Amino acid sequence: MRFLSALVAAAAVSLAAVPLAAQVASVTVLGSPCGASLAATLPVLGTTMAFTIDGAAPPLLGALLQSPGPGVPVPLAGCDIFLSSLDVTAAFVTDASGDASVAATLANIPAFLGSLVVVQGVLFRDTGPVLGLDVTNAVELRLGVAPPTGGTFPPSWIHGASNCSTSSDPPIQVHPYAARTWILRQSKCVNFEGPFLYLLAGTQKALLIDSGATASATAFPVRATVQALLDAYELANGLPNLQIVVAHTHSHGDHTQGDSQFVGQPNTTVVGTGLAAVQSFFGITTWPTQIVALDLGGRSVDVIPTPGHHATHISFHDAETGALFTGDTLYPGHLFVSSLAAYKPSIARLVVFAQSRTIVDFLGAHVEMTSTPGVAYPYGTTWQPNEHALRLDLAQLLELDTALQSVTGPITQVHAEFVIEVF
Ligand SMILES: [Zn+2]
Repeated sequence: MRFLSALVAAAAVSLAAVPLAAQVASVTVLGSPCGASLAATLPVLGTTMAFTIDGAAPPLLGALLQSPGPGVPVPLAGCDIFLSSLDVTAAFVTDASGDASVAATLANIPAFLGSLVVVQGVLFRDTGPVLGLDVTNAVELRLGVAPPTGGTFPPSWIHGASNCSTSSDPPIQVHPYAARTWILRQSKCVNFEGPFLYLLAGTQKALLIDSGATASATAFPVRATVQALLDAYELANGLPNLQIVVAHTHSHGDHTQGDSQFVGQPNTTVVGTGLAAVQSFFGITTWPTQIVALDLGGRSVDVIPTPGHHATHISFHDAETGALFTGDTLYPGHLFVSSLAAYKPSIARLVVFAQSRTIVDFLGAHVEMTSTPGVAYPYGTTWQPNEHALRLDLAQLLELDTALQSVTGPITQVHAEFVIEVF
């Protein structure tokens, strides 16, 4: 009588606090159990882990999963699998051909997030203790984080007014998009550009993407707004004062005018807007093809050069939420292209990047389209009662990329959700 057991060995690595609601593991098969193949898939935590052992006949009557930690093997109990340290309950089933499948519910995996977990089959040749390990039958389970799910949006944004002198809108609308992620929209009554700013916090730093179109702290209190959000976040999470990094998608005034409120403030770095300053701060040595990471402390943001609208334009990708912050490179509005030679490959690289990840929301810096496909507000509009949603998705990026392939010079080309404007 043969038994198969599985041994799980894990090296626990503690991770900085991350939301534990949705986590998955991916699996790499390292070898075959008992001379057969072993395949495994791990779903989102809290559901069921399953792996199968093919052709491991004659009948497999049980298995043992053992975590490291205390490392005390747990005796087989019938066809059950018991995994002490990982707090797994599982059932082990064989079919007539001898194929075995294991379904295990992982109840307490978060402590192992980021760990390397090795599952090894152990061949039992008797009903007694394990007689030996078959080192060839192992799978490597790397516990990771589930695909991002994006964030939320308000029912509507402030969108200017027909008479701004009587508008009661605040100068900045703050929307909590996701945990430790905020969207700020500047009122079009303060500046017609009505840009969107994004604030992302980690455990050590906060990143403000763009500083708005107005310098005056009275008219547009962007620093006070950001600091209040961070103060509350730090207090709620027992964090020290975060370092604030004020960076920009590009140097146009509607994205940088708020800088003056941050310059010289404590714990604050305002990234320069020239190409040398941008490259130097982020550590981009190969412009514009190198993508680098900015570490906020337990949260990494990708910095992606995307020149074309402007020579130093960069986009940002936040893996935690699945948001791609595209600035003026892509948004529901007038896509002004100052260098087609730079813009086309930037969009092409953005496509490659976006297709290799789960991008939930493409978030640009303005909304200039109406809710009617193909109809944009005129440049300078200060009242947009029926404006398009902020969010775009991969379909619009692909549409843009495809359209650009036949654009060779100055053009105004209207699409449902953006207008390509090549000078
Ligand atoms: Zn802009």
